[in-house]
Amino acid sequence: MAHEDCIFCKIIDGEIPSAKVYEDEEVYAFLDISQVTKGHTLVIPKTHTKNIYETPPEVASKLFERIPKIAAAIKSAYEPIGMNLLNNNEKPADQSVFHLHIHLIPRYGENDGFS
Ligand code: 5GP
Ligand code: ZN
Repeated sequence: MAHEDCIFCKIIDGEIPSAKVYEDEEVYAFLDISQVTKGHTLVIPKTHTKNIYETPPEVASKLFERIPKIAAAIKSAYEPIGMNLLNNNEKPADQSVFHLHIHLIPRYGENDGFS
């Protein structure tokens, strides 16, 4: 169920445009608007859930099940030499959008912008 005022729910609904990387019935992936490195992607469940603490196991399971395939597609498209997965929960841990998301951050070597 979409949450009012949630920008990621609006992205899923197409109210806010995004650069789609992957989509199926349960999961959506799109380029982060602020690319930490080239191909920086966010993977989100279509079910609104605030963060990892409030995520039912079945939602987490569907989300994580898709990540290897999405990571492989990014690897193939951008040819990074590594990739970080990151998930921030609550403001003190740098969560700024309160709809669960996993960052996929391709890495290109020293000074690639992410540390
Ligand atoms: P957080 O800091 O919550 O872990 O990450 C939220 C991410 O969402 C940030 O990296 C930010 O750049 C990204 N973001 C925020 N608003 C938008 C938007 O409207 N479109 C896209 N594509 N990314 C967004
Ligand atoms: Zn949402």
